[in-house]
Amino acid sequence: MGLFDRFKKTITDLSEKLSFDRLTEGLAKTRDSFVSRLRKALFAGRKIDASLLAEIEEILISSDVGVATSEQIISRLKERVRQDKIEDADSIITILKDVIASMLAESPSSHNDRHFVIADDNKPLVILVIGVNGVGKTTTIGKLAYNYRQAGRSVIIGAADTFRAAANEQLEIWAQRAGVDIVQQKQGADPAAVVYDTLNAATARSTDVVIIDTAGRLHNKQGLMQELGKIGRVMKKVKPDAPDEVFLVLDATTGQNALQQAKEFTKVAPLTGIILTKLDGTAKGGAVLAIAASLNVSVRYIGVGEKIDDLQVFDPIAFVEALFEERTMVDV
Ligand code: GDP
Ligand code: GDP
Ligand code: MG
Repeated sequence: MGLFDRFKKTITDLSEKLSFDRLTEGLAKTRDSFVSRLRKALFAGRKIDASLLAEIEEILISSDVGVATSEQIISRLKERVRQDKIEDADSIITILKDVIASMLAESPSSHNDRHFVIADDNKPLVILVIGVNGVGKTTTIGKLAYNYRQAGRSVIIGAADTFRAAANEQLEIWAQRAGVDIVQQKQGADPAAVVYDTLNAATARSTDVVIIDTAGRLHNKQGLMQELGKIGRVMKKVKPDAPDEVFLVLDATTGQNALQQAKEFTKVAPLTGIILTKLDGTAKGGAVLAIAASLNVSVRYIGVGEKIDDLQVFDPIAFVEALFEERTMVDV
């Protein structure tokens, strides 16, 4: 390996370590409630029996992993214990990590996600971001735009939340931070019109990526869901197969509610991915397991803080490692 390649590798290792540290830090609350209780139950010398398994299941359920997913985890765990003839409880953590990681399928697009790749023949890549109020859509769009920018792509954000009074200003601040362009109209304008303008601007400027912010909406508000339909139709006038991505943003602090929202939205919108925010602010990070294990839509990104670099590609292995990380974090 040449000096430059070694240097690049060091930088990559370093940035991977930093992002793993950030993930570990972000999962602190979940780890405290979930993994520390598991470790207490799984002391060395404890026999593996029905009461231990029931205790593990109870810890999983109360950590917002959900009943169905917890049952699945326990049944796979039992099978592994039998297969590998495990007798002592302290080996269970390792198996549990394996079982959980194997249930969190890596998204087929994880490589492209990680490197913010866009196919040359598919520009502009059009990303539509939806979800209920306050889940973190606008913040996430700022972070996503920043990541694409860092990867050298050009980005235009479309401010199609024309409903909320301060929406334009908030998005403008994020666009500035990320160093990307924004297209907006005045409050009350037709969101679909903003989308049309944005896609046309992107085509005229040969922009790589379009990210559309939308107003918060509930899946059962018919008028608002029709509005989404209209946005989709208008996009197709400029780019026939748009949107390329429909990301549903979910707030991890709402735990099992987030899972419920995801289930409802998958029925009414053609989701291509889920972004789970605020993992840093909650002990309910177990909900990721339920969401990733029980939906047909992949978790693509996770939010681990309010800063612009606090968005991570969801990596099941890194997630489980960080969740079970034993090292205590020190401030530097
Ligand atoms: P929107 O209504 O869906 O557009 O949500 P916003 O983007 O306005 O975010 C609502 C709040 O959630 C803001 O205070 C954000 O700072 C906060 N937020 C968003 N993502 C994260 C995250 O990953 N971690 C934390 N701690 N806060 C977040
Ligand atoms: P109702 O309260 O059930 O009669 O429903 P409304 O239509 O009055 O609106 C309920 C909520 O939906 C409002 O508080 C807004 O958050 C949202 N909302 C209403 N109209 C619009 C709209 O035109 N666009 C968007 N994005 N949100 C809307
Ligand atoms: Mg918003």
